[in-house]
Amino acid sequence: MSRRRTFSIVAALAAIAALVLAGPRPRAAVADSGQLFIYRVNASSDAAAQRLFDRGFDVLENRAGGDLFVLGNAATADKLRTAGFQPAIAEKIETGGWQPPSTRLVPDAAGPAVAPIDETYDGGYRTVRAQYAHLDKVAADHPDLATVVDYGDSYLKTRNAATGYDLKAICLTRRATGDCALTPTAPKPRFLLMTQIHAREIVTGDIAWRFIDHLVANAAGSTAALLNSTEIWVVPIVNPDGVDLVQQGGNRPYLQRKNLDASGSTSCPRPPTGSGQVGVDLNRNSNNHWGGASTSRNKCSEVYPGLNPDSEPETRAIEGLFRKLFADQRGPADTDAAPATTRGAMISMHSFAGMNLFPWGWTNGHSPNDAALRRIAQHMSSLNGYQFGQPGEILYNASGTSDDWSYGELGIASFTIEVASCGRFTPAYSCTGTDFAKNLPVLLYVAGLAKAPYQA
Ligand SMILES: [Zn+2]
Repeated sequence: MSRRRTFSIVAALAAIAALVLAGPRPRAAVADSGQLFIYRVNASSDAAAQRLFDRGFDVLENRAGGDLFVLGNAATADKLRTAGFQPAIAEKIETGGWQPPSTRLVPDAAGPAVAPIDETYDGGYRTVRAQYAHLDKVAADHPDLATVVDYGDSYLKTRNAATGYDLKAICLTRRATGDCALTPTAPKPRFLLMTQIHAREIVTGDIAWRFIDHLVANAAGSTAALLNSTEIWVVPIVNPDGVDLVQQGGNRPYLQRKNLDASGSTSCPRPPTGSGQVGVDLNRNSNNHWGGASTSRNKCSEVYPGLNPDSEPETRAIEGLFRKLFADQRGPADTDAAPATTRGAMISMHSFAGMNLFPWGWTNGHSPNDAALRRIAQHMSSLNGYQFGQPGEILYNASGTSDDWSYGELGIASFTIEVASCGRFTPAYSCTGTDFAKNLPVLLYVAGLAKAPYQA
């Protein structure tokens, strides 16, 4: 018997033993998505970046000089070469077979039964139920500081009330008359942090959790002045259907970016593979230069913007929440500046480029509030050490995004933070502490500007 044959028999026995030890898959588990790689390709021009999106590649939110990063499987390398790129493997996504979540997700899944607030996956990341239980607990423990708001339903819930999720936000402030009311004429200025609109950018939801805890834990001390003067709104999971799929990967989260609206895309992979995924990219779905840069009409593409602007329940709901919290303070033309008296600021958090971005994303042209937005972003960078600029200047152009919409539609100072997540697309849970420590000063700084950001 050859050494190779001996080895293959040993390997087969080991695989069988592993299956026996692992036991049957819980019903919540879904098919393995296969080995994934992150490829590094040169794409220094706008045209080269757009060609990647047009060809349906999963372009990650990261750039190193002239290079972009593409997620895919083994076949993706050949497709990149066919498209004229020279891919190099930058990272092999950790594999090793499906493992059950750290704690159980649903009643019929494996793992110890825990209270919803203690549900985690992949070494500590919080499930949707845990995030929502956390909001409720903070509100119950601090009725003078916290109010939970249900601002809509996820796509799946709109289709079937027995599935999907509510969409939830928390308002944090030292409560006085009129605070946290769903009207733009409320007395205090407002700052809103939204995380995990891209479900697989799992560090960001954890930062929201820690930010909430930090604000209430220090309400008698370092955060007292901010909570007295300002409403801090946090939406920890903008895309709960997507996160539900991510967390079903357990210790190897499924890399779902979009929501789970499969209408018109029923043939797209679910869970995602290296060749696409179901759903609509909620950060391309907003009605601001919709369907332009960094989108693809391929329904399985990670940047599919939907059939129409604002087509998705999650998009309409978060935009509806914004309209209730912030007055429209900017004229309708792209060249209309928001006035110096504008109130309100927001940050949408993504991963993993290590960047502080500001509008416009749809074009390299500057917004009429460019000087102030750039000045704020520069100060953000002095706090977290990231690069700053418009998306087209340091990452790639992107249209129909949350921050282009909130700035464009309402005039509020709007930013995207691409957290660095230890330079990893799929970071260990321990990395979230690093990202939080770096970005807490930034969140507090921008929240503190809410009264008059353009006078900063
Ligand atoms: Zn993102």
